[in-house]
Amino acid sequence: STQKPAGLRIRDLRVVFDGFAAVDGVDIDVSPGDVRFIIGPNGAGKTTLVDAVTGLVKATGSAAFDGQELLGRKVHHITRLGIGRTFQTAAVFEELTVLQNLDIAAGTNRGLLTLLRRRKSVPDSVAQAMETIGLTSARDRLAGTLAHGQKQWLEIGMLLVQDAKLLLLDEPVAGMSQDERDTTGELLGMLSEDRTVVVIEHDMDFLRRYARTVTVMHAGRILSEGSVAEVQADLKVQEVYLGH
Ligand code: ADP
Repeated sequence: STQKPAGLRIRDLRVVFDGFAAVDGVDIDVSPGDVRFIIGPNGAGKTTLVDAVTGLVKATGSAAFDGQELLGRKVHHITRLGIGRTFQTAAVFEELTVLQNLDIAAGTNRGLLTLLRRRKSVPDSVAQAMETIGLTSARDRLAGTLAHGQKQWLEIGMLLVQDAKLLLLDEPVAGMSQDERDTTGELLGMLSEDRTVVVIEHDMDFLRRYARTVTVMHAGRILSEGSVAEVQADLKVQEVYLGH
């Protein structure tokens, strides 16, 4: 088809836990190539929203990526549609090297023995991902010995080799040094060149510097949306953050 990619389109999304609507009728559009930050107080429903999009919790309404409905599909199917997600604690294999972690994610594990032997040739997609996340020179290091920031980047690399087109990142700079934050911010810009990036974040300084657009959630709903300047100027947002 000649249609342009549609990005992420969420309509009337609702997630109910025991009668409590953690996500209470949310519409969101994220354009291809955007770097959208989702913020909001604890309990606003940010994680639950991402859980719904990635198939971890049941939801009603619609969440489509590039025209493909995600709701009602299994997690692995959603992954195959190009949706990749990180968690607050990086899920890397600590006893394996950077390269082995990426190999496993890429599904190029031709049996464990081949994998554990150091290979001379690295698949293009893996080499490219290593370059993007800045870990080429660390390829043979055990993931467990990486700095906190590097582990987060490795986890992002694992999504890249899976060809994720929509990256959902949960507090990617939590616990990072200022240098690591800056590198991560630049990485988000690079990723958005041919992908769509959604970031759940609490760090306002990081948001001001690297968000292209912002959605503010509160009590399961969208409170405000727009550029950083627009949501910062929104009195409803100021009330939620300063008002109680
Ligand atoms: P945020 O990520 O914005 O901090 P969450 O999505 O984690 O918010 O939570 C939204 C609301 O849903 C909170 O009130 C939380 O207690 C509730 N919640 C989240 N997960 C569950 C669950 N599995 N069962 C019951 N309530 C939940």
